[in-house]
Amino acid sequence: MVTISQAMPSPTPDYESARRRTVALIAETVSDQRVLDAMGRVPRERFVPPGTEHLAYEDGPLPIGAGQTISQPLIVAMMTEALELRGAERVLEVGAGSGYQAAVLSLLAARVVTVERVPGLARSAATRLAALGYANVEVHEADGGVLGWPAAAPYDAIIVAAAGPQAPPSLVAQLGPTGRLVMPVGGPTEQELLVFWREGGRLRPRSLGPCRFVPLIGDEAWMQDPLEGLR
Ligand code: SAH
Repeated sequence: MVTISQAMPSPTPDYESARRRTVALIAETVSDQRVLDAMGRVPRERFVPPGTEHLAYEDGPLPIGAGQTISQPLIVAMMTEALELRGAERVLEVGAGSGYQAAVLSLLAARVVTVERVPGLARSAATRLAALGYANVEVHEADGGVLGWPAAAPYDAIIVAAAGPQAPPSLVAQLGPTGRLVMPVGGPTEQELLVFWREGGRLRPRSLGPCRFVPLIGDEAWMQDPLEGLR
């Protein structure tokens, strides 16, 4: 018997529906509607490496080259919600990576400054964000010798997309008087996601739960990747 099989034309992936499903999943944990709307508008498939677009709406981190990752969508949403952005803020991100988190922030704040220490990632994030029309984001290459971007300080909110053993004092110094900072704090392999609010001279931390991030490199974090060679 001869079976005749006809190749089906491969359908254009329905990223819109996949994105809606991811946002519905995130909505079980995150309730800020502005954050959910922003997550529903940013095409994550445009921020992952070519050939991995079909994985863009799995709720997990994905490799983006240079040993780095684009964060899990739920974590991006939780960190963004913790900053309580209302639209007028100036935000600093440390660790631009793919530029995805910066794109989400750009829809919720007035200005986003993001720094990245890997030159190739900084360049591609800048090109991608510009091509997609995120005009209120600026990407700077910064080597971790000086953390953050003091030239545009003070910031209303700082988000650190890489883990360190503490909230780095030089970043805290770039926070405005009612500033908040969200960052994974702990050891090289596991951390706690903490949000710090400035109250007078003190920083009050609140935990958002356990997490696992790539390391922050710099004088006030780790001098080199503590997992180098183990990846
Ligand atoms: N926010 C990113 C994910 C970033 S992963 C996204 O949405 O895709 C963390 C990034 O932090 C990595 O790209 C890493 O190179 C960068 N990084 C680590 N230490 C840094 C430092 N001191 N300054 C700037 N970037 C740093």
